[in-house]
Amino acid sequence: MQNYDNFINGKFVPSGATQRITVTNPSTGAAICTVPDSTATEIDAALDAAIAAQKPWAKLPAVQRGNALRAIAAQIRENVEPLARLITEEQGKILDLARVEVAFTADYLDYMAEWARRIEGEILESDRPGETIFLFRQPIGVIGGILPWNFPFFLIARKAAPALVTGNTIVIKPSEETPHNAVKFCELMARTPLPPGVINIVHGRGATAGKALATSPKIGMISFTGSVETGSAIMASAAANITKVNLELGGKAPAIVMGDADIDLAVKAVKASRVINSGQVCNCAERVYVQRGIADQFVEKLSAAMQGTRFGNPLAGQAVEYGPLINEAGYRKVDALVKSAVAAGASVVTGGKRAALEGGYYYEPTVIAGCRQEMEIVRREVFGPVAPVITFDDLDQAIEYANDSDYGLTSSIYTRDLNTALRACQEIHFGETYINRENFEAMQGFHAGWRKSGIGGADGKHGLYEYTQTHVVYMQRA
Ligand code: NAD
Repeated sequence: MQNYDNFINGKFVPSGATQRITVTNPSTGAAICTVPDSTATEIDAALDAAIAAQKPWAKLPAVQRGNALRAIAAQIRENVEPLARLITEEQGKILDLARVEVAFTADYLDYMAEWARRIEGEILESDRPGETIFLFRQPIGVIGGILPWNFPFFLIARKAAPALVTGNTIVIKPSEETPHNAVKFCELMARTPLPPGVINIVHGRGATAGKALATSPKIGMISFTGSVETGSAIMASAAANITKVNLELGGKAPAIVMGDADIDLAVKAVKASRVINSGQVCNCAERVYVQRGIADQFVEKLSAAMQGTRFGNPLAGQAVEYGPLINEAGYRKVDALVKSAVAAGASVVTGGKRAALEGGYYYEPTVIAGCRQEMEIVRREVFGPVAPVITFDDLDQAIEYANDSDYGLTSSIYTRDLNTALRACQEIHFGETYINRENFEAMQGFHAGWRKSGIGGADGKHGLYEYTQTHVVYMQRA
């Protein structure tokens, strides 16, 4: 078994940490590799490397910084298959989805590289004769990036690409569940002319390495993707130094299926939403509201579709639509929420328990009918292949139910009526609304949650500018 190290200042540095983390395959429980649970001193060394690299990096023309991102993208494209297998092995998503993640990561680096010639300041009218006011966008300095495990490879690019093209350097801590792909990212990066110290990757647990990064006065912004609970802890850590936070947190996306919807389309999209990555995706439908007149038909069709879903070890040779949950804790959470819904009066139409498969944390594709708004399964993020269904009478009630949530990341509505769709756009209070399609954001959009789903956002022009700070200059003609 390989023991991997942190990537600091352009090379792998042997760790002095006394604790190491063993990474396992969630499909089988087999050990894959180990990474260090880095100490605060090691995090500090990575930050010092990022600080030393930042000034010369920011002085390069942006287009050269963009070219560095393109060079990493090219390396990734030459290694799609081994990278995809490695992601599947440590995270459990199916190979096709892992291939999409790898390809999307390369595209994302290229997309952010294109912004190099488009970073724009402003020239403002002055109140004073002979004066010009300039607004510059400047790098923040060193960014701290902390990642979750569900799209571990893509999230490296989602943080590093906008940070780098705008002239920042970065220290990233991947999830302790999925650090192996980040090690491979470093190996590929080392083959490109990227200057040392511009991207540093350090490993460790949240309470140790993550906390050391978030509390450091050496970072100008902490960019975090993960759960609401950790987001809140990171805000508290950042508060001591008034460090800017960018938080991409959990979701509890409502899918509203109106009586006039194309039911088959809605069933297909909701099923896909619940099984993709074993239901472990922040933006996917987590609660399904169906108008009373079509509820029985919808539940029947959704249950049939879920029942027919093939799942299992994605690397065992047979075609599957989803793999295991990430770990035992993930399985327990899903199972407890299903049990609490049943105890509160909901009924399992299909699934509802751990699957009888050896080795991994497999959960049966599950549909639960008769859920109500106050149930835990409707209020808390499930993160598993489970669809709780709630019936509503009219659009007013559906919108009220949808908005009644601590989360505000994504939402969707299925309808053939333009007025209904428009009302949903105006009255559903979420960062994203998908109409008659699956929930998946585009890199040119802006992925930003309302309420407890986050602060700030990622992607597109607005995501790029999160990594800048403004500097306004008043120039008076003498
Ligand atoms: P998590 O919050 O448990 O962990 C995320 C990261 O935070 C890990 O790297 C962990 O080591 C670190 N961490 C934990 N405690 C910390 C602390 N006190 N200080 C600093 N770092 C700490 O989340 P997870 O289980 O890895 O990921 C799943 C969650 O991520 C879900 O809630 C999901 O909705 C969310 N997510 C959101 C988005 C989005 O774009 N909004 C995308 C993907 C995942």
